[in-house]
Amino acid sequence: MLFCRGWLLKIIQGYQHRQPMSPLTFAVTLADWTDKQDMLRMMLNCLKSQTCHDFDVILADHHYDARRSVVAELSEHCSFNVWHTPVNPAPHVARRYMDCSVFNVGWVMSEAKGCVRYSEWRFLSPDFVATLLSEPADLFIDFDFHCLHDEAPWDRTTGDIMWDRVPDFGGKTKNYPITPSNCYGNVALSREKWLDVNGFNEVSFNFYHWEDIDYSARCSNSGYAAKRIVQKMVRMHHDYGQYPNRANRKVEREFKPICSACSDLISYASSNVGVDDDSIGIVSESQWSSLFDARYPQVKRVDQGRKSWHVCQKCNFIFPCVTPDGSLDYVFGDPEYKTSPIDVSGSGRNLRNLSDDLNGLSWPDKIELYKNSWENPRYLEQL
Ligand SMILES: [Zn+2]
Repeated sequence: MLFCRGWLLKIIQGYQHRQPMSPLTFAVTLADWTDKQDMLRMMLNCLKSQTCHDFDVILADHHYDARRSVVAELSEHCSFNVWHTPVNPAPHVARRYMDCSVFNVGWVMSEAKGCVRYSEWRFLSPDFVATLLSEPADLFIDFDFHCLHDEAPWDRTTGDIMWDRVPDFGGKTKNYPITPSNCYGNVALSREKWLDVNGFNEVSFNFYHWEDIDYSARCSNSGYAAKRIVQKMVRMHHDYGQYPNRANRKVEREFKPICSACSDLISYASSNVGVDDDSIGIVSESQWSSLFDARYPQVKRVDQGRKSWHVCQKCNFIFPCVTPDGSLDYVFGDPEYKTSPIDVSGSGRNLRNLSDDLNGLSWPDKIELYKNSWENPRYLEQL
């Protein structure tokens, strides 16, 4: 009897922690830590102010432990669910600056038909959700890049956005028969189409942060029609934090650091080639590639289709060998480039398999499965 009761309790608790189906998930990433959590307050206020509340929110948080109680408190009175998760990086892949797999967290853990990426330092018009849900579900939706150089519309005490202080940025909403090349990361798409291109690239971006171009290119190469909407999402100009993942303080679950040989190489490049230590750098990827190749005996060149990468055999630090024409040609010059790489020396996952396995699990079980997904052979299978 006790045994049955225990199982019954477990089943009930499982349902309590299970996501109900929504048409839309906001895949939120948060790396900065701001005074009185005013960034989080502002983003949640933007979501609370929506005219349509038919969505849920997955918050992938680099400061999950420290922010847990305030997220619970702030989301208590929301009419939508806020699912909070830590960002668990791959334990076996060294990174130097960015780990773009964070952008996949909300999308792969969602059960919604569609997702939109929502990064910090951005605010949303109150009809953002209503506008998105009025569009065809399979359309790639991009938001015209509106950037403010001051915080005038943001009341940092209340977290409110004063729309009467937001300028009219001009421009018109446009339709595109094929996804344009200059989309930014905060875009919306059906999860099915996102899975078809295998989400955001988890392999190639250690220094140079053009995962949005890579993603747009694969959507373009896959023939996705797009729409660019004006005046719905506004970015506030900001400095990036100097900690990994561009955070402004040390994150709780750090990615694996690069080995001493890779570190030496980067120091050499910094002093001899003029790489900016801010990691954006002024050296082209092809220069990096040849430098790495010439100076580094532990490098293995890995080829997959028409793409190749340099991989450090010691720490698994990876970056792509791009053509001399640069990054645009790397992704747009290859019309067969439609899915992000999987299993480049153990880096890059099969997100469809992972999504299938996450589907229907309770939230704690999802967090656990995600955490353990990096070296599971099922998630390294090619599509
Ligand atoms: Zn290394």
